[in-house]
Amino acid sequence: MSTATQEDICNHVRVVVRVRPQNQKEKEGNFSKVLHVVDKHMLVFDPKEEEVSFFHGKKIAYRDINKRKNKDLKFVFDAVFDENSSQLEVFEHTTKTVLDGFLNGYNCTVLAYGATGAGKTYTMLGSPKEPGVMYLTMMDLYNCMDQMKEEKLCTVAVSYLEVYNEQIRDLLVNSGPLAVREDNQKGVVVQGLTLHQPKCAEEILQMLDYGNKNRTQHPTDMNASSSRSHAVFQIYLRQQDKTASISQNVRIAKMSLIDLAGSERASATNSKGARFREGTNINRSLLALGNVINALADPKSKKHIPYRNSKLTRLLKDSLGGNCRTIMIAAVSPSSMFYDDTYNTLKYANRAK
Ligand code: ADP
Ligand code: MG
Repeated sequence: MSTATQEDICNHVRVVVRVRPQNQKEKEGNFSKVLHVVDKHMLVFDPKEEEVSFFHGKKIAYRDINKRKNKDLKFVFDAVFDENSSQLEVFEHTTKTVLDGFLNGYNCTVLAYGATGAGKTYTMLGSPKEPGVMYLTMMDLYNCMDQMKEEKLCTVAVSYLEVYNEQIRDLLVNSGPLAVREDNQKGVVVQGLTLHQPKCAEEILQMLDYGNKNRTQHPTDMNASSSRSHAVFQIYLRQQDKTASISQNVRIAKMSLIDLAGSERASATNSKGARFREGTNINRSLLALGNVINALADPKSKKHIPYRNSKLTRLLKDSLGGNCRTIMIAAVSPSSMFYDDTYNTLKYANRAK
């Protein structure tokens, strides 16, 4: 097993923001842009009109002028991707930066956070034509393994699950709810979760697509296809030195790539009963996740990290904090139509740093 040095131990979460292009509805509704990407690290939320007109070369009318209560807030992140960014660029500045750590035996986590419609699934899963972070990570990992094949015996397996209403379901077979337990050697284990070994790119794409179609989705008033579950794709890597004796130099690491449920508040969806309970649970996991990340960043609270407060954080107990590498991708819309969601996402992302 690899041993971490003091310098390796870093609870800092790398936070990036991706602004998606305006959709048809936003364009037709003539919504103003509420985000101005200044450079690769900085963006301004609710920029002054002069600033917008300066950068966009034309004056833009504010449709929701009365909503402008947070004018001109600057945010700095590890990376900011504007609407023209490619899937590859996002991959290169997120998962790619922790792949070395992963190959060295550290657990890694990449979380896509944001309101419904902000671009989380596009970023993580993508489309067959433009596959996202999950696929690009697998391809890169296969490349790395190929380069190491003389010295190392590598085995890779993957699983794909969802956390929905505080219950875990396997997305690749029909089973569940599944229980989470902690194993002294293996870390967090989901009982009965199936492991798969895709053989080629095509098979990975099919598996991701199949799993995604199995996600629990319910129409709400706000968005007909809003995703109410957290989808967790995990990659397990086992490496063994070919030269060493059998039991020596075995490295095991886990990478979790997560498409979180929409972060919009339950109250905003105007839903009741079962749907409302869903909302509460989603917020519980997201709130718990935020609290864990904040606690890890705060030296005073090192002793008590509240992992047990939700299913999602219990599942990620061995994947957040400690020697783990964590990246949050905050997805946002550029338009005033999602003013509050964008503001809330930027605040959440800013706190996670
Ligand atoms: P979420 O998963 O956050 O609810 P989606 O990823 O489904 O949101 O994105 C909503 C819509 O916007 C989808 O039709 C998606 O294809 C499109 N979209 C999101 N991000 C981008 C992007 N960066 N480039 C092009 N289209 C995007
Ligand atoms: Mg989605």
